[in-house]
Amino acid sequence: MASLFSAPARCFFCGRGLFGRYCVSALGVPFCEAHQDIAACRFCGAPADAAEPTAELCAFCVRDAVLTRTDSAREIPGIRDEMHRLDLRLNVPVRVRLADRAQMAQRGGHQNTAGLTEYVADHVVSITIVKGLVRRQFGATVVHECMHAWLVQNAFPPLSDRICEGLCQAMAYRYLREHRGEPRAKLLMERLRDDPDPIYGDGFRMIRDSAVKNGFSTVVDTVRRTGRVA
Ligand SMILES: [Zn+2]
Ligand SMILES: [Zn+2]
Ligand SMILES: [Zn+2]
Repeated sequence: MASLFSAPARCFFCGRGLFGRYCVSALGVPFCEAHQDIAACRFCGAPADAAEPTAELCAFCVRDAVLTRTDSAREIPGIRDEMHRLDLRLNVPVRVRLADRAQMAQRGGHQNTAGLTEYVADHVVSITIVKGLVRRQFGATVVHECMHAWLVQNAFPPLSDRICEGLCQAMAYRYLREHRGEPRAKLLMERLRDDPDPIYGDGFRMIRDSAVKNGFSTVVDTVRRTGRVA
């Protein structure tokens, strides 16, 4: 994104004053057009910090990211409390672990997989989340995967991918909505709502439209009884 407005600010990356045209990250942070060829932050598109071992994030997002088991252990209890408030309770608790992108791919995800739930019949074996998500993205991904785990533990009928991912995205959206005052959560909500993907995006909009008419818990009950969305 570039702006023509005269800049009040300095480039966060090199510290130079910004005059004329400059770029703005998805979070509104300004930077020089000249940095557009530097690797962009995976989350907000600002120039990423090459000095960081996890380089794919900018200096702002890396401070917010869940990178270690300590970070994850700090976040999980709050996320669990919020899931309970949203009426998402697992029958059997499931351990959440972190993995890097290569490990996610080995576990059967693809390059951009943020989370994976592994299960055998109705037994959920594990939930794995990729390292380096910003805090609310980590939370939303944990909630999404816990919804998969809950569907498995509650023996839902076979569901289409669109209904299954739509329900999980809708639960993640409900979690994000609790944090909509935060710029990153707001951005994640927009991306989720506008996702062009025919499974995740269309699935979310189908569940949302039904939930607006019938209420979310009715949608879940209907899917449980019929395998379909009314
Ligand atoms: Zn600059
Ligand atoms: Zn960033
Ligand atoms: Zn999913």
